[in-house]
Amino acid sequence: MTKRIHNFSAGPAALPLAVLEKAQSEIVNFMDAGMSLMEMSHRSKEFTQVIESAESACRRLLNVPDTHAILFLQGGASLQFSMVPMNIAKSGQSIDLINTGSWSKKAIKEFKKESELNVLASSEDKNFSYIPNVDSESFNKDASFAYITSNNTIAGTQWQSFPNTNGVPLVADMSSDIFSKRINVADFGLIFAGAQKNIGPSGVTLVIVDKKLVERADEALPTMLQYRTHIKAESLYNTPPTFGIYMCGLVFEWLEAQGGVAAIEEINNRKSAKLYAAIDASDFYISPVETSSRSKMNVVFRVRHDEALEATFVKEATAAGLSGLKGHRSVGGLRASIYNACPEASVDALIDFMKAFEKANR
Ligand SMILES: *Cc1c(COP(=O)(O)O)cnc(C)c1O
Repeated sequence: MTKRIHNFSAGPAALPLAVLEKAQSEIVNFMDAGMSLMEMSHRSKEFTQVIESAESACRRLLNVPDTHAILFLQGGASLQFSMVPMNIAKSGQSIDLINTGSWSKKAIKEFKKESELNVLASSEDKNFSYIPNVDSESFNKDASFAYITSNNTIAGTQWQSFPNTNGVPLVADMSSDIFSKRINVADFGLIFAGAQKNIGPSGVTLVIVDKKLVERADEALPTMLQYRTHIKAESLYNTPPTFGIYMCGLVFEWLEAQGGVAAIEEINNRKSAKLYAAIDASDFYISPVETSSRSKMNVVFRVRHDEALEATFVKEATAAGLSGLKGHRSVGGLRASIYNACPEASVDALIDFMKAFEKANR
C-alpha cells in the first residue's frame, strides 16, 4: 500500500484515491489502444468518448439545462476574469459586483479594463469575514451582468443562498465550491471554475454558459478568447488538456458513484459542521468568520491567544501526517480545505490532532 497523508491543501487539492488508482491502471495502455491517452490524438475515438462522457456526467450532476453550454478551457479561473467582461459586458453599461475577497478583487482589476464597474457591496470593512446582504432592488436593471465569488477560498466565507438580481444575468466564480452542493444552473448566466479544487487537476477550467449571452461578444475579439469559438467546436477548437479532461471525467464518475451532488452535499455538511463545532467548543481556537457566512469548503481558524503557536501547529501537524493547514500567505492563520475528495476520516484525524495540540499548549 502506498502511503497517503491527510491532505488539506487549498489547491491543487486532494483527489479521490479511487480516481488516482483508476488513472494509474490505464496510464500505459488506454482502452487497449496500445498507447497512453496522453500520446493520442484529441480527435481519436478514445478521446472523443472521454470528453463526451465528461460533459454528459457534468450535465447530469448539476442538472445543466440545454440552454447552457459546458466548456473545458485553459488559462485557469484567472483568464475568466478577462474573458467574462470581454465577451458579455455591453458597451456603455456597467457591471454590478459584490466584493467578498481577494478573488473578487482580482476580477475587479480585470473588469475595469473592459467596462464601467459598480461595486454594490463589499465586506472589506471587516477583513472579508462575512458575505454582505444585497437585496434585489440594489441591482441595476441595465447592468451587463452581476458578479459574485460563491466561495472565498482565502477568507473562508461562502454564499449560503444566491442573490436575486432582478433579471440581471448572474455570473459566479465557483472555483472552490462547484459540485459541493446543489445549485440551480438555470439561475446563472455563466459559472466558471478552475478544476484544481473540486474537479480534477490544474490546467482545465470548466465554464458553464448560457448560449444566448455569448452572442454579445464582438467578432473582432481574438478567436481563442471568444466563448462562441469553443461552443461551436465543442471544446476542440485547438488541442485541449486531454489528460486533465480525462481526470475530470473520472472525478465526475466517482461523484456519481457517491450518489451525486446531493449525497456529497450531505457529507460536506457533516464534515464542516463537526470541524466548526470543534473550533467553537474550545476557547483555544477561534473562527474569524461570521457564523452565518462560514465556508463548508475552506475552514479558516486561528489560535486565539497566541498566534505565534500557529507555526508550531502547522509543523507538528505536518509531522503527524496532516498536510496543507497553513493559511493563505496574504492572511496567515490556519486553514483546512475540505473539498469533496477530502475523506471524512481526514477531518476526524484533524479534530483529534487539534484536541491533542490544545492539551499540550494551553
Ligand atoms: C483558486 C481560485 C482562483 C484562481 O484559479 P486559477 O486556476 O489559479 O487561475 C480563482 N477564484 C477562486 C475562488 C479560487 O479559489
